Amino acid sequence: MKRRDFAKTVVMGMCTPAGLVSGAAMASQPGGEVYEEPAKRLPIRKFDVVVAGGGTAGVVAALAAARQGARTALIEAKGYTGGTVTEGGTALHSFFNLWKAFPGVAKRQVVKGIPNEIVERMIKAGACSGHAEELIHYDYDSVNTSIDTEVYKLVTMEMLDEAGVFLALNTMVTGAAMTGTGIRGVIVESRSGRELFEARAFVDSTAYGHLSAFAGAKYSEPNDYEVANSVGVAGIDLDKVVAYAKANNAGPTSLALGLHDGVPGRVVRLEGSSGDRPKLQTFTTVRDNYFMFIKFNVEMDGRPTDRDATAKAELQLRKLQREGIERLRKNVPGCEKAFIARTSPTLNIRRARVITCDYDITLEDVLGARHFDDDVMAYGFHDNAPRLKVKNGGTYGIPYRALRVAGIDNLLCAGMMITEDHRAHMSTRNTVSCMAQGQAAGTAAALCAARACGTRQLPYADLRAALLKGGVHLETSADNV
Ligand SMILES: Cc1cc2nc3c(=O)[nH]c(=O)nc-3n(C[C@H](O)[C@H](O)[C@H](O)COP(=O)(O)OP(=O)(O)OC[C@H]3O[C@@H](n4cnc5c(N)ncnc54)[C@H](O)[C@@H]3O)c2cc1C
Repeated sequence: MKRRDFAKTVVMGMCTPAGLVSGAAMASQPGGEVYEEPAKRLPIRKFDVVVAGGGTAGVVAALAAARQGARTALIEAKGYTGGTVTEGGTALHSFFNLWKAFPGVAKRQVVKGIPNEIVERMIKAGACSGHAEELIHYDYDSVNTSIDTEVYKLVTMEMLDEAGVFLALNTMVTGAAMTGTGIRGVIVESRSGRELFEARAFVDSTAYGHLSAFAGAKYSEPNDYEVANSVGVAGIDLDKVVAYAKANNAGPTSLALGLHDGVPGRVVRLEGSSGDRPKLQTFTTVRDNYFMFIKFNVEMDGRPTDRDATAKAELQLRKLQREGIERLRKNVPGCEKAFIARTSPTLNIRRARVITCDYDITLEDVLGARHFDDDVMAYGFHDNAPRLKVKNGGTYGIPYRALRVAGIDNLLCAGMMITEDHRAHMSTRNTVSCMAQGQAAGTAAALCAARACGTRQLPYADLRAALLKGGVHLETSADNV
């Protein structure tokens, strides 16, 4: 290809959909001065499927695509996979199952397939509590699936390696090369320089919606959640902490027992009550003397895609962490020697861009237990339960059309980037939902690549058959009455 032609097909970083906010880098140019970057010739690598973002959803998407036989690349900015699962909240707690959604509702597992396979691998590695039932407060978080976050990184990298995924770690998605309304390739940048990763089908699971934005998709940025940097806390005497929580006037408000260092029946999740002594924040653990996650949140003065607002929040969060650990050491017996053993390399978002897809899930869909004729998964948890919960303790479906990025021929998205309505997003954004979306998007992308068709030309019957073969649990509306 001639240099002139190549330059024409490349949409670099700053693509701004009409009428919507522009990226942070433009806004931060003092004085409006610009430097025109000369076009470059980029080496090309060819794949069938490229997955952008190796986090919660992206890991599963890449595994699903590779297992369909697609030559798959996974591009991840950090040096490991797992994303917010390893850094954000309380890992995979809850949400695999509808257990005791309210009295009389039968226990059943509604997310299976690759996400559950990861849990089984984690149990085998002695690094997961298993699906541990909440003994208290169960109408909110009925099941807790605690993990050792460091082992999660290794286990998912091993699984990707076994599946033959080309794992591009420490590699940033920095642009999209377009051919009309289709993506030709993802422009990446790493210590090896800039390259073009070409493919037939693409999945955006960057959480920020970077690939979609670079490709010219429409999006909004609601800026409606706090950001966080959760820490791992070591130097804990867990038995003393549990005794403290139990001795508190009202007792613990959350308690789950499960596999802990491989031993069953031990505390894997706990929250202290708000009795007359300092409240103990929710924590999960599968290790002695370690809290896997303690969350610290701040409201950001700007959008999560704004570099400078993010830098301010990073500093605020680290100050909060220091104060929080000091409080813990002072107030909670068993935490006198607590110290921060892990922080996230960058703050964690609950959402940034919401990518416009062919369908947007509504709160009515979620609470009304709606299923669609192109369901790719079933889900049943809501973050605001018991105030907001799915009808009859059942499930709703996420349809294939909710993962197809509007206006782009060969791009699917998965993870926290779907669902505009904040209250509906409080369900679809949960870890296990993101993982299941990943399996659907990765499977669909591989099928599209094999058929050389766009995402809208893929027959749903073929996708459904492949998902069922991949162990995905699907329900029809008839099952859910
Ligand atoms: C503090 C906090 C607490 C939470 N608590 C819970 C909870 O208790 N239970 C629950 O179920 N859910 C919880 N959540 C929500 C849930 O964890 C997330 O919604 C979910 O993990 C998001 O998955 P994702 O795949 O969309 O994004 P991520 O897992 O964040 O994956 C995105 C990946 O893309 C990579 N990436 C981003 N940009 C680029 C780029 N340009 N190039 C290459 N790679 C890139 C990132 O490094 C990351 O690995 C919490 C979230 C937060 C922040």
